[in-house]
Amino acid sequence: MPGSLHDDARRLLDDVERFLRQDEELNGPLLLDPRRPEASVTAKRSDRAAMAPKLFGASPSLPAYPPEPWTASSTLEELRTAICECQKCPLGKTRTKFVFGVGNPRADIVLIGEAPGADEDLQGEPFVGRAGQLLNKIIEAVQFKREEVFICNILKCRPPNNRQPAPEEIEHCEPYLWRQLELLQPKLILCLGLTAGQALLKTKESLGKLRGQWHSYCGIPTMVTFHPAALLRNPNWKRPTWEDVQAFRKRYEEMVKK
Ligand code: SF4
Repeated sequence: MPGSLHDDARRLLDDVERFLRQDEELNGPLLLDPRRPEASVTAKRSDRAAMAPKLFGASPSLPAYPPEPWTASSTLEELRTAICECQKCPLGKTRTKFVFGVGNPRADIVLIGEAPGADEDLQGEPFVGRAGQLLNKIIEAVQFKREEVFICNILKCRPPNNRQPAPEEIEHCEPYLWRQLELLQPKLILCLGLTAGQALLKTKESLGKLRGQWHSYCGIPTMVTFHPAALLRNPNWKRPTWEDVQAFRKRYEEMVKK
């Protein structure tokens, strides 16, 4: 039947896509990656002003903020209001809902994923689908509650078909995350997945190299582990993730004891 043939072909493509992503997450980018689109963006690099994120001490590796009013936001709510209509990249046109982030505005812990998926796009909240339910279990397993941490993504709008964010999309969206982190001033950051880790830490290292050690984002201890969606695809990665989050919890306890 044509319908079942179509379904089989689609499943095969999904399997190939999953394999490529898993391999890339562990071993780094593929030499030729046809899945990365060239996003056409409207804002230009030359529009950027020489104003860099500054709470925590300036990091010389961070580019400057764009000269835009939202950079003066002094609370998360102000920031959300200032950027929720953003159309700086093509994802602004295809999103259903803008996904700012959710959680305690005074959180010690910030969890950062890649981008909203289908469920997140519909509900306007990060990590609410199957991967979100698994993330909740991981959070609770190391004695945090979802409502006491802050959860957000590198991108605030969903890439169509859950494709990987294009570099240009990250470039235009990540200053919002920098400002969120300035306002939150967390004690620790956990990046979920390779894309989040590479974008925040400004590195091209593979997940295999980024995992299992501490990094610093503007002086904040930062760890990178698997994205919960990757754990749904490959349960073998649950154990290393468990080790990561246990180390994360241990560091948190050491910090709050001081
Ligand atoms: S993904 Fe980020 S930069 Fe692109 S439209 Fe959405 S908020 Fe703006």
